[in-house]
Amino acid sequence: MPSAIIVGSGPNGLAAALTLAADGVDVTVLEASDSIGGGTRSGELTSPGLLHDQCSGFHPLAVDTGFSRQFDLESHGLRWALPDVQYSHPLDGGRGAAVWKSVDHTASHLGTDRESYRRMFGTLTARFPQIAEEFLQPLLHVPNHPLVLARFGAYAALPASMLARRWHTDEARALFGGVAAHAFRPFGSVMSSAIGVALGTAAHRFGWPVAVGGSATIASTIATMLTSRGGRIETGITVRDHRELGNPDIVMLDTSPSAAAQILTGVLPRRVDRAYRRFRHGPAAFQVAFAVEGGIPWSHEPSRSAGTVHVGGTFAEIAAAERQVVRGEMPERPFVLVGQQSLADPGRAKNGLHPIDTYAHVPAGWTGDATQTIIDQIERFAPGFRDRIHEIHTRSTQEIEDHNPNYVGGDIVTGANDPRQLVFRPRVALDPYSTGVPGVYICSAAAPPGAGAHGMAGWNAARSALAHLSTR
Ligand SMILES: Cc1cc2nc3c(=O)[nH]c(=O)nc-3n(C[C@H](O)[C@H](O)[C@H](O)COP(=O)(O)OP(=O)(O)OC[C@H]3O[C@@H](n4cnc5c(N)ncnc54)[C@H](O)[C@@H]3O)c2cc1C
Repeated sequence: MPSAIIVGSGPNGLAAALTLAADGVDVTVLEASDSIGGGTRSGELTSPGLLHDQCSGFHPLAVDTGFSRQFDLESHGLRWALPDVQYSHPLDGGRGAAVWKSVDHTASHLGTDRESYRRMFGTLTARFPQIAEEFLQPLLHVPNHPLVLARFGAYAALPASMLARRWHTDEARALFGGVAAHAFRPFGSVMSSAIGVALGTAAHRFGWPVAVGGSATIASTIATMLTSRGGRIETGITVRDHRELGNPDIVMLDTSPSAAAQILTGVLPRRVDRAYRRFRHGPAAFQVAFAVEGGIPWSHEPSRSAGTVHVGGTFAEIAAAERQVVRGEMPERPFVLVGQQSLADPGRAKNGLHPIDTYAHVPAGWTGDATQTIIDQIERFAPGFRDRIHEIHTRSTQEIEDHNPNYVGGDIVTGANDPRQLVFRPRVALDPYSTGVPGVYICSAAAPPGAGAHGMAGWNAARSALAHLSTR
């Protein structure tokens, strides 16, 4: 029986482990932290009984993938729940915009931008399963759906500032700015639309679901399926050197490229070592979790029903803030993401207190405290918010990295989404999961398709490993 060791139990490490175990490989997962899940951990960060997602909260790209279809996590206990409004974007004076699952309903609230929104997202939504199949694998491949991919690419390749020109109202432009900002890229740069177009379309096809009982249930469901196939998981073990791993047939590294280079010191081909050490990380997040009495009193009514609220004002304001963050400057009014998971999963709230998970975009490795800035940004669109706060839990960029070494300098997406790394990550190679050391693969979000708690880098890497194993 072939054997494998997986270093790291994030969703990609666990997806790789389960994929290998399902193919008859004897799998052991080694995790540095005391708990499994990496970026899918949940916990009581503020008041007792209030369940917060410590990292990922919303999973539009995890619902329908090659991995989810092979393993059907939902029939093993994972449950998705949707808020009424998938995401929203408040503006000053109680105005704003919102995305419902229906394209038509969303478009009907966008005034003169109605037709333009409906045309773009209507077409993409109808074809999203084929589009997602193409971009949830390394981009260097022969596409199964070239025409559909070309249509998506025509939008995705554009700078966000250029794509936003198809809309004229503050509402539609801000709505797109908020979702495009998930890329942590300046809006003037090529392909800075890609992640926004994908997430915006996914909202209409699948919604932006939360995992009932917390994102940790994504990891625990995969872990249960893994152990039922004989896999083992050991926590509290930080792997620092490949010699600690013995001689398994397969090693999967759910780590940052620099950690992979460190672990493989002495055996990694020089060109790969250089590429991993030069891998570029992006800007960072500063996280604040709140316990809020009765939830956030947004002036913009639909934001009171939204799972995710993008806070940052107009498209121009967000564009300016993102540009500053990438340059290494802290904006006065940064872009802030607000997660209101308890609206979709009411069991996470307790006695009228709601867990609210937020983070601001800040420069890489920023050493300041953004707590008051985040409160001010929310208060701007939800007067009275400050008075409803019962408890606060913060995580600085350094604490984010301490919590998970894959988030170097607080980079929660494990690698800058610049054009080169969107296409070739973690290095230019036909098989981006291969480290060049026989049997050793990198399977984290630093590899294609990048960030997200969908496990697709792990699934792809495991399939690459199995293909090589079968030719030995
Ligand atoms: C604040 C925040 C919000 C986010 N929001 C979302 C969201 O809403 N939706 C979404 O899809 N994604 C979101 N993400 C991103 C998502 O969580 C990550 O992209 C995803 O978890 C990456 O999975 P992974 O398996 O590659 O690595 P990770 O989940 O980062 O896990 C890596 C694991 O490997 C372990 N490890 C690393 N090095 C070693 C070592 N040397 N030895 C042993 N163990 C090691 C770590 O301890 C960790 O447990 C968010 C992330 C953060 C931080």
